[in-house]
Amino acid sequence: MKVGHNPTGLFEYSANKELIVRLKHDTDLIQTMTELVRSWGIEAGSFAAIGALKCARLGYYDQKNHKYREMKIDSPHEMASCVGNVSLKDGEPFIHAHVVLANETGDTKAGHLFEGIVFAAEVHLRQLEGPRLERKYDEITGLSLWSME
Ligand code: ZN
Repeated sequence: MKVGHNPTGLFEYSANKELIVRLKHDTDLIQTMTELVRSWGIEAGSFAAIGALKCARLGYYDQKNHKYREMKIDSPHEMASCVGNVSLKDGEPFIHAHVVLANETGDTKAGHLFEGIVFAAEVHLRQLEGPRLERKYDEITGLSLWSME
């Protein structure tokens, strides 16, 4: 097995720092998290967030046409769940997040989070120490996935 080759797609890490962050009102969750991990030098990690968003842009990946379809959420929603990870894309720390948003009757919309304007948000970010976790273009899915090479 050549160095760095990883046919199983399994990467081993140990937990490093645990950060608790309150995101500022009116900021974009993705942009703020990206700035945060870049400023802390976090290249691998995971996070969970709860709170409420004022509006959002979600994505649904069309597996046949290899394109994201966008869903605009123009009203306030509870951020019932948001989970995400941190890895490297084009050599820079990159945030990948999915979200479940609930409206006033508890009905939900969910998907890939492109943009989420924060009303209030509480984040638990975990920094992981271990191998370089780098995204590479994947022909089969058309997505940038964790490299197994
Ligand atoms: Zn996604």
